[in-house]
Amino acid sequence: MIDSQRGRACPLFRSGILALMLVLTAAVCEAGIPADSLARQLLRKGLGSYHSHDLLTELVRVAGSRLSGSPGAVKAVNLTAAMMRRYGFENVHAESVMVPHWVRGKKEEALLLPRGGGAARPLAVCALGGSDGTPRSGITAEVLEVRSFEELRAAGPRAAGKIVFFNRPMDPTLLNTFSAYGGAVDQRAGGAIEAARCGAVAAIVRSVTLARDNVPHTGSMGYRDSIPRIPGVAIGIRDADLLSATLIHDPHARVKIRLSCRTLPDAPSANVIGELRGSERPDEVIVIGGHLDAWDTGTGAHDDGAGCVQAIEALRLLKELGIKPKRTIRAVMFMNEENGSRGGRAYVAATQRSGERHIAAIEADRGGFMPRGFTVQGDSDVVERVKRWETVLGLVGAGVVTAGHAGVDVSPTVEAGAVGFGLIVDHQRYFDVHHSANDSIEAVHPRELELGAIAGALLVCLISEEGL
Ligand SMILES: [Zn+2]
Repeated sequence: MIDSQRGRACPLFRSGILALMLVLTAAVCEAGIPADSLARQLLRKGLGSYHSHDLLTELVRVAGSRLSGSPGAVKAVNLTAAMMRRYGFENVHAESVMVPHWVRGKKEEALLLPRGGGAARPLAVCALGGSDGTPRSGITAEVLEVRSFEELRAAGPRAAGKIVFFNRPMDPTLLNTFSAYGGAVDQRAGGAIEAARCGAVAAIVRSVTLARDNVPHTGSMGYRDSIPRIPGVAIGIRDADLLSATLIHDPHARVKIRLSCRTLPDAPSANVIGELRGSERPDEVIVIGGHLDAWDTGTGAHDDGAGCVQAIEALRLLKELGIKPKRTIRAVMFMNEENGSRGGRAYVAATQRSGERHIAAIEADRGGFMPRGFTVQGDSDVVERVKRWETVLGLVGAGVVTAGHAGVDVSPTVEAGAVGFGLIVDHQRYFDVHHSANDSIEAVHPRELELGAIAGALLVCLISEEGL
């Protein structure tokens, strides 16, 4: 409990100059801990141990890559449940959900075949998630390079029988890397559909990244029932540039692609849940979570092992400090964000059955980087009310509060009436690692990761004690 045990709103959290002064002077409020004191205690406890980094190290070591339906995902479910039990969370359990089960297979290669019989050159590629494989002999065809679906449609019949190469980069001049991602990811998600619509036989997509290496970045792609299913691969950006340059002087160069990926029947999996039960309003629930599944190209340390361990660490910190929240604070490890979002929907279906009321749902899924603040997904009044906490959140480095999308996993919970929150981080390096082999524990800074957990702990505590 961080303010009044008698259920009155602590003046520290009311708007106006008085609240600001009280926050800054750390006045003790009634019988509880004042918010600024709580912030300092969280910093001391969290930064004194970097415990979230230990949890993340354990997750990637034990479960490794953990795409939905994989053996790694099973290990991740069991491990995170064990972590929550280890710390004495209440009501720890797994909630079943059936998930898509796509496997990459062993064969994954692309060769650049110059026209005149020069030496074949291997290209750095990986299958896009959900792609069909190729015949065993592969697919070999000339390449049509385009930068947009409009350009592809304008090319019309020239795409027939070819491999379409979507080569529009993320716009590096945008400060917001998520905006840059949004401006390029249509090629990955829908490229195979649009290419097949024009009679193409496969799609190659420039990796959606701002890194300057040659590591391919996967991600989900789709098919449409009425349109032939053709394979899709991502190519590292250096090889994308090489392929593009080759096509200028050798427009009839061909590429051969061989993939053995395929989609198996749906598999059983689970969301993992544990909580600190509310002392006064246990049926009012505040969710904090991330997604447990991760693409198989890396170990998903940032995406989204970070969000998962930050949720566990947030509850662990509060428990360590002896906080007994008024409302129930629940950590949720959602399954299957990457290629189906089934876990987020199953969570709402399960909780609706139990008749709980969710007042807030917080998601961390932008990488385990330095926190800056929170997006708030709700009406303008609630955004303004949350802004009153900017000063105290700023004490842990997360003082930016702005209206915005919360996250994919909590979207169904937000649609069902909860206010959504998304942890904002310094995302400049996120798309260097996103969905690739670069997403490893070595890319996560222990201090930045822990600060995200501390920010989450502080926010859930403020919501629990003050409401929204
Ligand atoms: Zn993610």
